[in-house]
Amino acid sequence: MPKRFVIADVIDFARNAGRHHGKIPVSEFERLRDYLVDRGGELAYTLEGALDESARPVVRMVVQGLLSLRCQRCLEAIGRKLELRSVLLLARDETELCRLNEDEALDVILAEPDLEILKLIEDEIILDLPASPRHAEGTCTIGGRDGGGMDRSSPFLALSQLKMKMLH
Ligand SMILES: [Zn+2]
Repeated sequence: MPKRFVIADVIDFARNAGRHHGKIPVSEFERLRDYLVDRGGELAYTLEGALDESARPVVRMVVQGLLSLRCQRCLEAIGRKLELRSVLLLARDETELCRLNEDEALDVILAEPDLEILKLIEDEIILDLPASPRHAEGTCTIGGRDGGGMDRSSPFLALSQLKMKMLH
């Protein structure tokens, strides 16, 4: 992991209103790559340290770029504009992490030393991905050809096809 992708002390970064930004080629996200058709391009990110309204250390993350996901119906690419904004609350240790995680509205991460920015960004992107990406109705190559991919598995369609066969 290149040195430029590490924050040595992220709580310190938050307290001192640290700011870090840059670009990472999509191909460097090893886990994210598995979800993509095209691994070209790069993602721009900004990280800002701050204290929230309760004076707790947080990191505000913005990630922007273009991802090409694989449609689960036709397996072709879907362009997805990424505009990710997260506020990550920093937990000092495992105990605090467990306690803060009880509030599901919070996005909490462990403030480990030498925090890898790339891994942090990748986690947030993967969490944000749709579970089963598909083209919108009518724009999918398969959906457009047979009038909706779901119909292919319909028992009524299978039955009508069977009847057709019997008639011939
Ligand atoms: Zn499709």
